[in-house]
Parts: sequence; structure tokens; C-alpha cells
Amino acid sequence: MDASRRAVTDGDGERFGDRFGGTCVGSAERIGGVCELLMKNDSKLTMGIVSAMGVAVKGEPKVTDCLINATEMASKRDETYAVELTKLEDKHVSTAKALLTDKAEYDAYIAAFNEELNDLRAMFKAIYIAGCSTDAFGDFVVGHGELWTARLCAATIRCKGGKAVWIDARDILVVTDSEDGGVDVDYSLSNANLDKWYDEHMQEGAVVMVTGFIARTPEGVPTTLKRNGSDYSATIFGALTQAKNITIWTDVDGVFSADPRRVKGAKCLSSISYNEAWELAYFGANVLHPRTTLPAMKYNIPVTLRNYFNQAAPGTSIGMTCSLPAGVEGNVGKFETRDMSGELVKGIATIDDVCLINVEGTGMVGVPGTANAVFKAVKEAGCNVVMISQASSEHSICFAVRSYEADAAVAALNKTFEKAIAAGRISRILPLKDCSILAIVGQNMCQTPGVSAMLFESLAQSAVNVVAIAQGASEYNITVVVAKKDINKALQAVHGRFYLSKTAISVGLVGPGLVGKTLLRQMKEQLETLQEEFAVELRVVAITGGRKMLLSDGAIDLNSWEDEYASGVQANMDDFTKHVLESEAPNQIIVDCSASDVVAGHYKEWLSNGLHVVTPNKKANSGPLAYYKELRSIQRNSYTHYFYEGTVGAGLPIIATLQSLRNSGDKVERIEGIFSGTLSYIFNTLEPGKKFSDIVAQAKEAGYTEPDPRDDLSGMDVARKVTILARECGLNIELSDVPIQSLVPEPLRDIESVDEFMKELPKYDGDILSKQEEAAAAGEVLCFVGVVDVKNGTGSVELRRYPADHPFAQLKGSDNIVSFTTKYYTSAGPLVVRGPGAGAEVTAGGVFGDILRVCAYLGAPS
Ligand code: ADP
Ligand code: ASP
Ligand code: MG
Repeated sequence: MDASRRAVTDGDGERFGDRFGGTCVGSAERIGGVCELLMKNDSKLTMGIVSAMGVAVKGEPKVTDCLINATEMASKRDETYAVELTKLEDKHVSTAKALLTDKAEYDAYIAAFNEELNDLRAMFKAIYIAGCSTDAFGDFVVGHGELWTARLCAATIRCKGGKAVWIDARDILVVTDSEDGGVDVDYSLSNANLDKWYDEHMQEGAVVMVTGFIARTPEGVPTTLKRNGSDYSATIFGALTQAKNITIWTDVDGVFSADPRRVKGAKCLSSISYNEAWELAYFGANVLHPRTTLPAMKYNIPVTLRNYFNQAAPGTSIGMTCSLPAGVEGNVGKFETRDMSGELVKGIATIDDVCLINVEGTGMVGVPGTANAVFKAVKEAGCNVVMISQASSEHSICFAVRSYEADAAVAALNKTFEKAIAAGRISRILPLKDCSILAIVGQNMCQTPGVSAMLFESLAQSAVNVVAIAQGASEYNITVVVAKKDINKALQAVHGRFYLSKTAISVGLVGPGLVGKTLLRQMKEQLETLQEEFAVELRVVAITGGRKMLLSDGAIDLNSWEDEYASGVQANMDDFTKHVLESEAPNQIIVDCSASDVVAGHYKEWLSNGLHVVTPNKKANSGPLAYYKELRSIQRNSYTHYFYEGTVGAGLPIIATLQSLRNSGDKVERIEGIFSGTLSYIFNTLEPGKKFSDIVAQAKEAGYTEPDPRDDLSGMDVARKVTILARECGLNIELSDVPIQSLVPEPLRDIESVDEFMKELPKYDGDILSKQEEAAAAGEVLCFVGVVDVKNGTGSVELRRYPADHPFAQLKGSDNIVSFTTKYYTSAGPLVVRGPGAGAEVTAGGVFGDILRVCAYLGAPS
């Protein structure tokens, strides 16, 4: 070993390894920038480890992908593989032209490049003719991208007046396949190779450009460190040279709490431990190759992940604040420092495509070696077990493999356990396809109670079913398997729970009529306060009417939604539902402001899918009893909320009062109330000397009635409210069980035209007048009321008389009033709720209140 180069002695000078990902070397301009960055470094040894060229502009060819594609195409006898080669040629020749200003450098680069490309052409031709390729062939081919960039960078530095040499890492790194599908480094052989290379090729003060990703086997066969492996190359070379610092340059500001492409509010972490980085990468955070941290950990070399495109950002430092994973030896001994200042959960990672395989059977209980046989069979089939969870009953062994390996694993298990299956000792080998893994990772979870409760609660609140669970003995991660269709929702929910101070909720609105529009306006006015004071972020992502629909990936701007909605697409309830369901928030609410029974028919589907429903629409709760019961039972048996305060008395707390009376153990005996704002107005205005028909006409004129006043006068609306309240009291009644005393005179019920009806109505004024006079003679007034008689199990809608000093007789304008007679609030002093019970503002206010109630249940501060 060359002591002057690598011995760790004080004053020996600093060595740095900088690794540049594909996007950092995606164009001539970027490669130029990378070279300048390296040239600025005046440490004793500067190494630049590079990936193959990625892309600077979306849609351009990525070099590694082209090489993989070409190999696949040739082996499938698809002659268009040649197109991929042309892309590679164009990309490298034009980049070299732009960078290599020295003719000799350019000529030498192109000569070497052409020679290698011609060799590849010949090889592809052979693959094409044979119609097959091998892994070794593929590994040899795919590594060319790195050769071409490393050589190009060295030449560029020289053209810029610097000193540079380059290393083909296949001359240095010796690796062997490891059991988990990765590769292990033979450090002593690699070290010896590096010494040799250094003696023969190193130039004093030169930047050393190194090919990332590639290596060779002990037999000298070219191989790779597997996809994304250039980070791993960097830390291996860092370890070989015992670098002072390794910087991994990529296209994000650092390691985030979740993939920033998928989770909007993901936070960039300032520091994480090697173990945390390792676990995150293992569970799918592809910002790092899973093995990247291992070599750095060996010598405690700090790794910094930085954004090449935002060099002002400090990046994430990855360092030693924890123990090494089992089996990894290093010179740092055991660390167990808990980073108390940090977050409980550092990051959340996902593997989207896995298959859960369950091996079940009573014959496994107490039989030693079954687990061993299971995993041996899987390993021999070349499949990598991502996660294991075993039931402690030993009744089943359950583990996850990547989806593409599932069939092979199941076939191998069926073969291995052929006899045990035939004998019934193993009942079945069951693959559960289309699953995903979600892992939460964080060293501080260790010995902190309650973390898993938070995880499972957040999943339950988002209606995500957990299929399997595993926790590492280190307690650095908790892993759950969920259905693939739920993974995005799960990721958002869990991230939101651990990371976001705000509860983000998507809202889909059905029926942007008068109430819907008012609600959107009220929400717009409150958005900021909600965010600041209650940490609730409401995002309206979809609005649909009967004909039009507006869907948006982000939040719809509530200042200008009407214009966008006007040019919306054709309404479609399935698309609307899917859009809300897949929107990027842990929780979703559908608000139905329509009066439609067709829309109400969707509640079951929505609630079953975990969508909360808030509505002032009476159709579901006053429709068929069985449907209402189904909805309530879904609500009761899940974390999904169904709130409908607006169905009775608009924003007045009538249902909430009733529910809290019942929940607190009181017994409701009777509910009586004036539930129709319209009829309230009519009877409050009806005084001696005034005609009923005139008042109806006035009310119609003023817009207090439905377009056809018979809809109010028929009492149907009040009957629906009575049905809703009766059911809320536990009565099993149908709307048709509620007798209604209609105020529409019998002969006028079938008249088609509203005008005709209005013209005929005065003929019947006498009916009401005589009732009114009778009441007045007894010192009473007429009120149109709904009654729920809980004791007798009935509901009714009728015109009743009340003493002039009764609260019902005191009502003003279009107010509603409801009195609850209960065990505690007896008839001597019933509980009374009174106030405006109709109109868009108060109805929308009631709906808004329900939306906030959902938020509170989901964890927003109250
Ligand atoms: P490079 O070519 O530099 O190796 P990669 O594309 O392999 O870059 O890795 C960077 C990408 O990893 C980011 O653009 C980001 O989308 C993705 N990524 C996934 N999970 C995370 C995470 N937890 N933090 C940061 N980036 C992540
Ligand atoms: N070029 C290789 C790949 O695309 C290695 C890397 O970029 O890290 O997988
Ligand atoms: Mg990468």
C-alpha cells in the first residue's frame, strides 16, 4: 500500500471524492461545469466519479437506458436496436465537439469512442442473430456509458488547462455477487489494483476521473454494481482512498422525508445516519443505491448529498450516529447514540411492486427448519426476499418479493414442498399480487412508544388496509404491506401524520348551485385562517354539476373557479370519484350540495372507499331505511366520516345536539319542531285579517318558497326531516310511515301549472281561516310542525295549535325551532334550538362546520 497516498495520518492532506449523477453530466454545458467544480478543488487528491450521461432536457436519450434497450431489442431480434446506437453516437459526438476544443484531444476521444461503438455493433449483431443475450454480456455492454463520460471529463479538464487522468474502474474494483442480489467488494484485491494503477498512471496534482457503476469479477469478467450503482462506486473509492469527504451530486437538494416527486410537502433532511440512509434506500428511496453508505461507514467518512443544480443548498449530511448493521464490520465499534434533537421518523420510502407470499400449514408448527427450507428454495430460484413477517403461531410464514420474481418463487416453493402439500402438512402457498411496501425509517423510533400507533392510525384514518407488518429488530424501521392501489394514499397519509404540521384534505364538491357556490366562497374566505390557526389545508380538487365537471391536480383557485368550471369537461361521476380518490392528500372529502337521489346513491361507494362524505342533501338519510343503515354502519365500522348536519335546520346544531344527548346517556322522548323556513314564514305572517293565499303569493314573490310552492306546502320536506331525526333516535321508520297533513287543498294537487294553482288557491282560504279563528278563540296560534314521538315509535307532520306564550308561537320570520324532550330535559323545560334554518349562507355554514368536524377527527387541533 502506498503510504504517502492513503495512510490516515494527520497532516497528510485531504482527499475528496465527488460523484456526479446522470443528470449532472447530462449535457456538454453540465459536464463543463462538473469539470470546473473539480478543478477548483485543491486538495491532495480529487476524484470525480461519474455516471453515464443522463438528460438535460426531458425526452432526450439516457445513455444507460439506451444500452439496456438496445440489448433487449437485439435479443428479441428487433433490428431497430440500431436506432439506439445512433442516439448514443449523436449524443457523445456532439458533446465532445462542444467540449474538446483541442483537436488532438477530440480526435483521440472520438477514435476510442468509435472503436468501442463498433465493437458494440458487432456484439449486438451477434446477439441479434443468436436471439438471446446473457447477464455477463449485458453487464459488459451497459457499462460503456460510464467509460465514455469519465474519459470525456478527463479530456475536458485538460482542454480547460487542468491536469486529469481517468480510471476504468474495471481495472480496479473486484466484486462478487452477494446473497441479497447486490455485490460485495473485495477490498484487498481492489486496494492492490489501485496501488498498481497509482504507481503506473497517477500524475501529480491531476484530477482523477473514475467510471462509476462498473467493476469486474475475481475472474476478470466485466460486471456492474447494479442500477443506480454510481453512488456505491463513489463510497467504495472513498473508502479505498480514505477520503475526508464524499459528495454525491444529484438533482435534488438532499435526502427528503419522502420522494419529493410524489409527496408535495416532503422536507429536505439536514442530516441522517448511515443506517437511516441505508434503510431508506433499501426500502425504495432511489436517491441512493442501498449499499452506498456501507463503505463510508467502514471508515466513518462523512457523505454529503447535494444538488448540483442548487449549489447554494447545504444538502444532507450522512454520518455516523448509530451502530453498524449486523454483519458489517468497521473500525468504529458500536455506537448507540440516539439523536434526540431529530425527528422521530426521518423518512418514508416505498417499494411499489411486490408480491406477498404466504406459506401456510399446521404441519409447520414446531417443525424445525421449515423457514430455512422456504428461504433456501426462494434463494435458489434467484429471488430476493425484501421483507419477512412471521406469525408467532408458526402457522404461516409470510414474505415479500419483487413482483417480477413472484412466479419463480412460488414455483420453487411448490416444488420444494410437493410432498408436504400432498400430505396436507402445508395447506397452501398463496401469492398475493399487486402489493406495495411502505417503510418508516428513523433511529429515534427506537424505544419511543407510540410510533407504530401513529403509523397505523394514520393508515386507518385514510381507509388503507394493512396486509402485513414487519419491524426490524433494530427498531429503525417499521414496514407495512398494503394493496398497490392504496400506496399513494398511504404514503401521503403517513407522511402527513409524521411530517406535516398541516392536515391536508382534498375536497370534491358535487352541485355547485346556490349552497355549493356559497360554500366555496366561505371556504375561500377562511382558507388562510384555517391554515394558520388550525393547521388545516383544504384543497378543492374537483367540482361537478350534472353536466359539467372541473378536475384539477392541485387546488382549484377559489377566486376564479367559476370561469374554469364554465369551460370544464363533460360530467362523469366515475371520473370525479377516481380523481378525488387519487388526489394527493392523505384524506379526501366529498361534499354533496345537490338535492339529487342519484348522487346520494353514490355515498355507499364513496364511504366504502374511504372518502368522507359531508352533505345537506336529505335524500340518502330519508330514503330507504336499509340504505341509511348501511351508510351508518360503514361509518361506525371504519374511520370514515359521514356528516349531514345541514339536512335538518341548515346550520343549526340539531343533529349534533341529538347525537350528543344520546351519546351522553340521555333518553330522547320527543322531538317537535318547526322545520320549514318557508312554512315558518307563512304562519308567522298569517295574522287575523290576512289571507293565506296572499301570504303564499308574497312568499313566492320574495323567493322564500320553492318555484312551485306546493313543494313546501305539501309537507314532504318536513316529513323527510322528521324521518331523518326519527332514525337518528333509533326508530326504524320509512318516509312513507310518516303521515303528512298537506296544506295543498286536495283538488289542487294534480294541477299542472303553478300559475293555475296560485289562481285557484284563494278559493280555499276559508279552510285555514276557520282553523285559525278556532285557535285564536282558545288563545292559541297555528304552527306547521314535525313531530318525532320516540316513545310510540312514530313520526308525523301536522298543523298544530300552541298557546300564545309557547316558544313556537313566538317565532319570527323564517326561523326554525326544535324542542327536545328527554329524560333530563323534561316537558317542563325542554332543550330548545332556535334560529334561521334556511338559506344558502346558513346551510353552507352548516356544511362547512361538518367539513371542519372531519378535520378535527383527523387530527387537526380543536
Ligand atoms: P442520480 O442520477 O443523480 O443518481 P437519481 O435519479 O438516481 O439521480 O436519484 C435522485 C432522485 O431520487 C430524485 O430526483 C428523487 O426524485 C428521487 N428520490 C426518491 N426518494 C427520495 C428521497 N427520499 N429523497 C430525495 N430524493 C428521492
Ligand atoms: N448509469 C447507471 C444507471 O443508470 C448508474 C448510475 O447512474 O448510478 O443505473
Ligand atoms: Mg442514482
